[in-house]
Amino acid sequence: MADPDAQSNKNTCKTLLLKFGGTSVGSPEAMRQAAAIIQEERPKWERIIAVVSAMNGVTNTLIACAQAALDSKNAEYQEHIAQLRQRHFEAIHALVPQELQEGLCAVIDQQLGTLKAFCDSIQVMGEVTPRGMDTISSLGERMNAKIFSACLQQIGLRSQAVDAAGLIVTDDNFQNAHPLLEQTCRQVSAKLLPLLEQGVIPVVTGFIGATEDGITTTLGRGGSDYSASLLADCLDATEVWNCTDVDGVMTADPNIVPDARVIPELTYDEMSEMAYFGAKVLHPKTIQPIVTKNIPLRVMNTFNPSHPGTRISSQSSALRGKLTSVSGIKNLSIFTIEGRGMLGVPGVAARTFGAVAEVGASVLMISQSSSEQSICFVVPAEVEEKVQAALLRNLGGEIERGDINGIQIHSDVVIITVIGSGMRQTPGVSARVFNALGSRMINVIAIAQGSSEYSISLVVDSQDAKLAIQQLHQEVIINGNKPTQN
Ligand code: ADP
Ligand code: ASP
Ligand code: MG
Repeated sequence: MADPDAQSNKNTCKTLLLKFGGTSVGSPEAMRQAAAIIQEERPKWERIIAVVSAMNGVTNTLIACAQAALDSKNAEYQEHIAQLRQRHFEAIHALVPQELQEGLCAVIDQQLGTLKAFCDSIQVMGEVTPRGMDTISSLGERMNAKIFSACLQQIGLRSQAVDAAGLIVTDDNFQNAHPLLEQTCRQVSAKLLPLLEQGVIPVVTGFIGATEDGITTTLGRGGSDYSASLLADCLDATEVWNCTDVDGVMTADPNIVPDARVIPELTYDEMSEMAYFGAKVLHPKTIQPIVTKNIPLRVMNTFNPSHPGTRISSQSSALRGKLTSVSGIKNLSIFTIEGRGMLGVPGVAARTFGAVAEVGASVLMISQSSSEQSICFVVPAEVEEKVQAALLRNLGGEIERGDINGIQIHSDVVIITVIGSGMRQTPGVSARVFNALGSRMINVIAIAQGSSEYSISLVVDSQDAKLAIQQLHQEVIINGNKPTQN
C-alpha cells in the first residue's frame, strides 16, 4: 500500500518552480538578478527548482554552426565556437568562485569540443540529421545550467545542475519531441526529490529531454517554458514563475504595438489560445501540463521583480466580459479548394487533410463555407510546395472531372487572432473586429472562430498585418474595453 504520509508530504510541500529565459540568464548582470530572486524566495518555500534556458542568442548560434558546417564554411563555425567560448568563460570569471572556475571552464570546453566534432563531421558528410541537430542545439542549456548553479553556490545557496536528458523522457520526434509523462514523473521523483529533500536547489536544463534509450531530444524552439510546466506537474508544484524580460503577458506583442499593456490576470484557456496563435512570450504547450492540477503560473520580469506580472489560473476576475489581447503568426500560406462539384460529395475534406498529413504539415486554421463549396486552410509557408504537390496527387480525379475548380494558394499571409473569454455569448464582437479593419480598408482573406468562443482568427496579407494588429489593439482591446458611458 502507498505510504499515505509520503503522499501527503508530496502534495503539501510548498514548492516554487522558477523558469529563467535566455535574457534572464544571458549575462553576468542578468544571472545576478535571477539569483537574487531565488535568494529572496528561498526562506519562503520548502522546495525551489530552477529551469534555465541557454544564454539569449546561443541556440541560434549553435544552429548557425551546423548550417555553416553544411555549407562547408569551416572558418565561420570555428569563429562562432570561439565566440561561444569567450561569452561563457566571461560569465564564469565574473560569477563563480575562483576554485570552481577551472573545472567549469573545462566543462564548457568539453561541450564545445562536442560541437566542433559534430560540425567537422557535418562538413565531411554534407548532411545533418534532426537527431544531430538536437544534440547540437541542446548544448547552450547544458553549459548555462552549470554556470547558473555555480552562481547560486557563490551566494551561499545549495545548488546542483541537473541535465533534463535524465528527467524528461520523450518520443523520438527530434526537434519537436513529445514528452512521456509517466516515465518523466518517475525520473523526476527518483532524481529531483532526493535533492529537494536535502534543501538543494536543482538547476535543470530547459528545452531538452531524451528518448527512453537516452538519445538527446528537444521540445521545440522556446521549449524551456514547457520543460518548466512538465516538471511542475510531476512535482505538484504550488506555483510556477516564468521569469522573462517583459513585465508580464501583454495585450499585444510590444514590438508591434508599443503601447501594449500588461494583462494582470488570464485564464488557462486564454493563455493557451494566445500562445498557440503566436504570442511568443510562452511556448504553445506550456499551459497543458499545469491545468489538471490547477497550478498557477506567474509571468514576471527578472529585471523588475516587484511588478506583479500576469497571473494565469483557472479563473480571471479582472477582465471578465472583456477581450484580452491580439496576436499574430507570420510566414504562412493559405490554400483554398473550391468547386460546385464538392457539394455533398463525401470524403473531399478527408482527402484534403489526408494529403496535408501525408507530408507531415500541421494545419493552423481551417474554415469552410457553409454551402460546402470551398474549404480553406492555413499551413506554414515552408511546406507550401509539398502540400500543393500532395493535394494534386490526392484530388487529381476531382480536378480532372471539374468537380474542383482548382487549388488556389495565397502565399505570405498572417493569422491574426483576437482573444478573450469575454467574447463568450457576447454578441457584436465580430462586428467590432470587422469594423475596425474595414475602417482602414484592410482586406480579410478568411475567418475562423474557435467553437470554445475564446478567439476569432482572421487571415490577412502580410503587408496589412502590422496595421491590422495595431488597429485591432486600439479599437477592440483598448477602446472596446472602456466602460460604456450612459
Ligand atoms: P524568454 O527568453 O524569457 O523565454 P522570449 O523572448 O521567449 O523570452 O519571450 C519574451 C518576449 O516575447 C518579449 O520580450 C516580447 O518581445 C515577446 N512577446 C510577443 N508577444 C508578447 C505578448 N503578448 N506579451 C509579452 N511579450 C510578448
Ligand atoms: N534556448 C531554446 C531556444 O532558444 C529554448 C528556450 O529558450 O526556451 O529555443
Ligand atoms: Mg521563450
